[in-house]
Amino acid sequence: LDYAYLATHAQSVEQNMQKRKYEGDSIRQVATLYHQQQELEQQIKQHCEERDKVNLCIRQAKDKDERAHYISQGKLWKDRIKQVTDQVEQIQMEMETHALLVPNDTHPAVPVGDESQATVVRVVGTPRSDSTTLKDHLTLAEDLDMVDFEQAALVTGSKWYYLKNDAVWLELALIQYAMEQASLRGFSPVIAPDVVRTSIAYSCGFQPRKSEASQIYNVTTPSTINTSAPRLCLAGTAEIPLAGMFAQQLIKEEDLPRKMVGLGHAFRAEAGHGSANERGLYRVHQFSKVELFTVTTPEQSPAMMEELRSLQEHMFTELGLCFRVLDMPTEELGASAYRKYDMEAWMPGKNDWGEISSTSNCTDYQTRRLDIRYLSNDFKENVGSKDVRVPWHIKEKWVHFCHTLNGTAMAVPRVIIALLETHQQPDGSIWVPPVLRKWMPGQVSMLTS
Ligand code: AMP
Repeated sequence: LDYAYLATHAQSVEQNMQKRKYEGDSIRQVATLYHQQQELEQQIKQHCEERDKVNLCIRQAKDKDERAHYISQGKLWKDRIKQVTDQVEQIQMEMETHALLVPNDTHPAVPVGDESQATVVRVVGTPRSDSTTLKDHLTLAEDLDMVDFEQAALVTGSKWYYLKNDAVWLELALIQYAMEQASLRGFSPVIAPDVVRTSIAYSCGFQPRKSEASQIYNVTTPSTINTSAPRLCLAGTAEIPLAGMFAQQLIKEEDLPRKMVGLGHAFRAEAGHGSANERGLYRVHQFSKVELFTVTTPEQSPAMMEELRSLQEHMFTELGLCFRVLDMPTEELGASAYRKYDMEAWMPGKNDWGEISSTSNCTDYQTRRLDIRYLSNDFKENVGSKDVRVPWHIKEKWVHFCHTLNGTAMAVPRVIIALLETHQQPDGSIWVPPVLRKWMPGQVSMLTS
């Protein structure tokens, strides 16, 4: 983390935090601790100079007594240095704790405010106008024997569900479709672990804010109870294990951008949520999600954000959905996003728009915390070698933090909602978009008309 930058730009960082509705005094703490640390570092330097002088005297001592005198003086300086160094370490830890709570910077074009300030960038299709006669997804799914919330409540709890029969084929077809479309555009397929170290989740920006309940499910195993083993949690999104794939890596600039498409389950505690128009599959505790994740240079990241958005738009258009793209305002950016687009589909059951996808440019927020860097092409030109193993002091000048971006390719349950409600037919069947049919087995009858 760039403490010097945070401390010297504390005022503008604080203004940015206020725009993003971040409470607390983290940045002021960072600035105070940083200045304390600088003073103590100065003290250490002076103590070291004194110790070196004493060391010289030890070497030049005329007799045993003089030598013993300087040795005891040297020991005093050593103790003082240790004492101040311990203080610096303590400050460093506190400073890190506060600095980790500081969100990313914000793109100047981002609208300021809450959800209501989102800018509509584009609308594709027209909302079904016969909304009053249309059923909502839960009624449709129950009529077609596709979901079971009741039995899942008994087995796990509320907001957990069984997907059944044609809904299972639909989920698998949506996953295959999204993985295929991303692969066709050069994204490498990954199946990511659903359990991650809590520290990796925090580094990606999923640490709870002071005033908020944690949305994370913690995992305990025999090895994590009463030991110092790393704490584990269920991933809220495959973005976390995908970002972790690059942690502590130095990538050659010529190998960027790296583009991944990962399949994982997302687990969300969803504390504090559960309004009446979030019925059924809209807000659940576990769902399958196909996630796009890229690592770029700072120069590549704005164009990559448009590439992710264009892939999402292409898929939702092929699925025949009516949707809109929103440039999200400051209070909706979370900790990590510098800029974020959300896509909302028209959901006749709610008679309203519902979020189905989002894309974020996290710039260097995650890469600083996960240590993901690249060696610029200039290194090869200046050093005359492309071997990244040359000593650090030689290559340091050409090493920079990468940018990361993520985008939802397919958040399955919400897309199922939009598909069922948009493509319902008067006879109760559902029209299946042609792009999905190759993955739907022949026996599916309720979904094809
Ligand atoms: P996020 O990572 O929070 O941007 O979520 C990615 C996408 O997952 C959102 O755009 C929603 O479509 C979907 N989503 C988020 N939370 C839930 C949930 N609890 N249940 C179902 N879908 C969700």
